[in-house]
Amino acid sequence: MPNVTILGATGSIGVNTLDVISQHQDRYKVFALTANSNVEVLAKQCIEWNPKYAVMADEASADQLEQRLRAQGVGTEVLAGLAGHEYVARHAETDYVMAAIVGAAGLLPTLAAARAGKRVLLANKEALVMAGEIFVRETKRTGVRLLPVDSEHSAVFQCLQGNHREEVERLILTASGGPFLRVPLKDLDRATVKQALRHPNWKMGPKITVDSATMMNKGLEVVEAHWLFDMTPAQVEVVIHPQSIVHSMVRYQDGSVIAQLGVADMRLPIQYALSYPERLPLALAPVDFVKLGALHFGPMDMERYPCLGLALAAGRRGGTCPAALAGADEAAVAAFLDGRLRFVDIPRLLADTLDSYSSPAEHSLDAVLEADAWGRRFAREWIEAHR
Ligand code: NAD
Ligand code: MG
Repeated sequence: MPNVTILGATGSIGVNTLDVISQHQDRYKVFALTANSNVEVLAKQCIEWNPKYAVMADEASADQLEQRLRAQGVGTEVLAGLAGHEYVARHAETDYVMAAIVGAAGLLPTLAAARAGKRVLLANKEALVMAGEIFVRETKRTGVRLLPVDSEHSAVFQCLQGNHREEVERLILTASGGPFLRVPLKDLDRATVKQALRHPNWKMGPKITVDSATMMNKGLEVVEAHWLFDMTPAQVEVVIHPQSIVHSMVRYQDGSVIAQLGVADMRLPIQYALSYPERLPLALAPVDFVKLGALHFGPMDMERYPCLGLALAAGRRGGTCPAALAGADEAAVAAFLDGRLRFVDIPRLLADTLDSYSSPAEHSLDAVLEADAWGRRFAREWIEAHR
């Protein structure tokens, strides 16, 4: 029975992963759970799942968790920090690693899992966007597979099954358009955090929800698809599909298009990454085609979503450019959520980031981390200068 380590267990993907495992307790065992600072939720999860290890990002939270668990008589060993995260990600007894930390914080633990030859269930797209080249090299060396959890990439992965890679012409990623799809452009000036967090179809963590509102998320996903499926960014097309029923498509050289459809529920791609190449039962409502009546598609409006163009440009420039942009985006989104940056200033900040950045000649993990740090610094200074 595979032992599963969940990095980012308290988040939206982490909680859904535990829900999937709870439906298949005869098949998967929870080995380690990790979180940033949410002692409350991680303690509850440890009491329920009794993992061998639990990891918190900092020592103080780890101490609190330890006290809670001892008081409850739970024997889970508590670790802290990046070292603790990497330890459980590459632990000899770990078989599968769900990489569900949000943002750059997930890069090193996810890479540790890939280097140790674990099955990596990849939700943390920022890690691949930042260090795609390094991940591809490591997975080739260890022979492991990165199994996509992002719904679009899971869809593409499913549409590729049973076909030859050389026969693929392009990937077509769908995008819902987020909460501002039909809001007049002039009104975006007043977009609030509450509005940006109201995604029409998906319930997700705050960072990806804001990225979906700006469409930065789709830009990151194009870069993610480029690395996962060895396609050029130009071979990855994006169309608006407000219903989020078609999760993405693959067009083959004979013109045939294969699509994957389903209700908008992350438990489906999470379970497929766990059970691949098998399909297990999953208690979800079926798609009701008669009720839907029609599926709608529309063109991507690059004026409405400048962040998409910026992410594509960073992907084309390559090197550490995507890492710098992703770092700046993470800082910009955090500032927007804290009320320190307006929604419409996110793309302005990111455009200036790209204009000011140049990749170093060498590409290494250190260069990637430095680019991420540069992006964050740039964002901080930009926000300070535009107050
Ligand atoms: P979330 O904010 O709900 O959860 C993030 C998790 O990461 C939490 O468990 C948090 O404790 C942990 N974390 C944050 N910072 C950390 C740090 N410094 N050290 C250790 N742990 C830390 O986010 P989410 O929506 O679950 O998204 C997770 C990842 O999955 C993101 O990369 C996102 O893009 C991707 N993803 C999410 C969805 C979705 O439906 N939520 C869909 C596709 C892809
Ligand atoms: Mg997605």
